[in-house]
Amino acid sequence: MSEYPFFFTWTAQERATPVYLRGGEGAYFDTDDGQRWLDLGSFSYQANLGHGHPRMAEAIARQAHSLSLAMPDAVFPAKVELAERLLDLAPDGFSRVFFTLGGAEAIENAIKIARLATGRHKLVSRYRSYHGATMGALSLSGDWRRPLLEPGLPGVIHALDCYCDRCPFGQTLASCKRECARHIGDILTLEGPGTVAAVVLEPVVGANGVLVPPVEYWPMVREACDQHGTLLVADEVLTGFGRTGLGFGFEHFDVVPDLICVAKGLTGGYAPLGAVLVHDRVAARFDRDTLACGLTNYAHPISCAAGLEAIRIYHDEHLFERAAALGLVLRDALASTLPAHDSVGPMRGLGLLYGVELMLAPDAWTALSAGLAARRLFLHVYPGRGTVVFAPPLCIDEDDLRAGVTGFGEALREVLAGPTAEPPAASQP
Ligand code: PLP
Repeated sequence: MSEYPFFFTWTAQERATPVYLRGGEGAYFDTDDGQRWLDLGSFSYQANLGHGHPRMAEAIARQAHSLSLAMPDAVFPAKVELAERLLDLAPDGFSRVFFTLGGAEAIENAIKIARLATGRHKLVSRYRSYHGATMGALSLSGDWRRPLLEPGLPGVIHALDCYCDRCPFGQTLASCKRECARHIGDILTLEGPGTVAAVVLEPVVGANGVLVPPVEYWPMVREACDQHGTLLVADEVLTGFGRTGLGFGFEHFDVVPDLICVAKGLTGGYAPLGAVLVHDRVAARFDRDTLACGLTNYAHPISCAAGLEAIRIYHDEHLFERAAALGLVLRDALASTLPAHDSVGPMRGLGLLYGVELMLAPDAWTALSAGLAARRLFLHVYPGRGTVVFAPPLCIDEDDLRAGVTGFGEALREVLAGPTAEPPAASQP
């Protein structure tokens, strides 16, 4: 039994692996035993600004000393200014922000806004996706967490993925006619005209494999949505705020969604906050119709101050541009470090979000985790998903990034040379 009086998430309590955190600085965090770790995963993909940023602490303290709580209808400078800055970052035509306390709530409220705006109830998402742990967001998700809690929200249809290295339609990039995008159009048609409220997609699939679509994918899905009067929702919770080298992930793909969900990088993790950015073609409807959405801690002042300061830091430290430049360093470092081996699959990514597929037996995953821990490297190593995900803070030093990749390569080579290297008989689906 766990010795702690609280639950650890997504695990049986006796298998929890607590990390005793003390603090951090830049791309490093410190544990209670005095060890300094290089954070190559941005904790849960939220530490885009890095750790221990003094400006974030000061902004939060300033807000706490002036106005530290508010009711949902309250108006105060940080709330107004943050909404304005978020709309500045969004494409032209976005006119309103709905605030939440995190990513799942942003998705949850996007579902509600789409349903209220269209009068329809069905939703389309993809199998290889994660949209959050609340029941609506989890119903849209497709990874191992959803079946544990089914039945979920009625009316959710899962589409096959845009997974070019293992195309579910049996194509290669050269032969394909973007069947994955057409497939979503087919679903919208076959589900019945006028029944699907929204298609909800991660611009680049994050934790479930780092899947980058071909450039035509999003515009084709947009066109299908337009044909059916279906709203297009971009889940930017993981990809937002520079992670892929641009402000939002969808900006790589010449598309404008109707709703944009953000969280994580919005405050860099310094305070809980999410938001749904809403295009005016949807938002205008709620001038007359009731927006049946709300939260006690809607636009919490401390979270708003954190979000506002985070956006200023992204700008002042040129972090989006930095992620784009360092993304090339990460790609090249991985390409030259990854050993040629049957168990080492393709790597792919954009900006400071890269995934490396590994086909390893369970013991080899454990050995890899141990090798990374010995080098004090924090990385997203999820055996069940078969992909190691690199997502360092956008402020990471270039030499640290290279050193981290080298350390990963050493740990991987040790595993591949060791007794646990035999790949599992069944490869990934
Ligand atoms: N959407 C995506 C793409 C995510 O990666 C996550 C969290 O990992 C969420 C939504 C849910 O965000 P939160 O954990 O803040 O509720």
